[in-house]
Amino acid sequence: MDLQDKLNRPLRDLRISVTDRCNFRCPYCMPAEIFNERYRFLPKPHLLTFEEITRLTRIIVRLGAVKARLTGGEPLLRQDVEKLVEMLAALKGVDDLAMTTNAYLLPQKIDALKAAGLKRLTISLDTLDDEVFRQMNGERSAVDKVLEGIFAAEEAGFTPLKINAVAQRGVNDHTLVELARFFKERGHILRFIEYMDVGNMNGWKMEQVVPAAEIVALINAEMPLEPIAGNYYGEVARRYRYADGEGEIGLISSVTQPFCGACTRMRLSPEGQIFTCLFAIEGTSLRDPLRAGASDAELEAIIRATWGERIDRYSEIRSSLTQEVRDRRQKVEMYHIGG
Ligand code: SAM
Ligand code: SF4
Ligand code: SF4
Repeated sequence: MDLQDKLNRPLRDLRISVTDRCNFRCPYCMPAEIFNERYRFLPKPHLLTFEEITRLTRIIVRLGAVKARLTGGEPLLRQDVEKLVEMLAALKGVDDLAMTTNAYLLPQKIDALKAAGLKRLTISLDTLDDEVFRQMNGERSAVDKVLEGIFAAEEAGFTPLKINAVAQRGVNDHTLVELARFFKERGHILRFIEYMDVGNMNGWKMEQVVPAAEIVALINAEMPLEPIAGNYYGEVARRYRYADGEGEIGLISSVTQPFCGACTRMRLSPEGQIFTCLFAIEGTSLRDPLRAGASDAELEAIIRATWGERIDRYSEIRSSLTQEVRDRRQKVEMYHIGG
């Protein structure tokens, strides 16, 4: 029988964070005051090698994961990441191989990624307003740099792209309709993500969340929308299409309409821990047993046991926790295990 967790959820997706480093400092993810020159990122020997990632992925795919996504930190900062793409693309059973990136380095990497067998790309862009964007990436990039990455991806045939935009009250909410119009015209799928309380460093407050329903209403007022059914079990985005037949958007409403019941994701951190929830407090190391000489069967047993014990449903219980309890909970950081 298929591997299932305690809430009968299968393992279907694997998110692989290949680095904890990033060239942006989005305040909702890696605030610049904390991630400054003094911050100690993981030393290279602590990171899983490409061979180690590929070996673990092969085992996790055997247990049911059919989709793999490279993320981070910023995955394009991992040296020769295209080699890893090539190794993963060669694995039997990986039906979908994708990457989430801020696109800053994409123009110089896109051809190598394509040649290596990357199938799909998600690019993060929160706004088209340059001033707002600079604020949302810690003054690391202009909008144009990301657009250059988007255009390069279009040219290489990665269409339609998925575009991730985090919505934050009082920061970029006044620019969301413009963003939707832009990507509707270019034929890409824009997905709005509710600002989440991942980690303990971004100072999250409920008031800063723009509820998905509000975003839908904002866009619907200008460009009418109608809901459509999800593509597959475990899809996290609620989908809407434009009533004129031209394009669609998605809403990742992890705060106001949680979807833990269908969450089929496992996360592998850069130093080889697996996490069964984005809001997990601790992970299970696969690197230590792996480097101590564990066989594939032994590693598989650890992964099975970890998934088999899984009861995570943080987003469903979030609202029942007080701010104080939420603040005390020492969660893993987003830049560490990817989105
Ligand atoms: N650096 C890459 C990027 O930004 O696309 C990949 C890693 S990033 C952690 C993955 C996704 O998580 C991005 O789309 C980002 O906007 C989103 N994200 C980061 N922090 C978030 C938060 N606090 N709430 C909601 N989404 C967040
Ligand atoms: Fe970097 Fe992505 Fe986090 Fe922004 S969201 S700081 S680009 S990892
Ligand atoms: Fe999955 Fe955890 Fe998010 Fe729920 S809170 S959807 S279990 S990652």
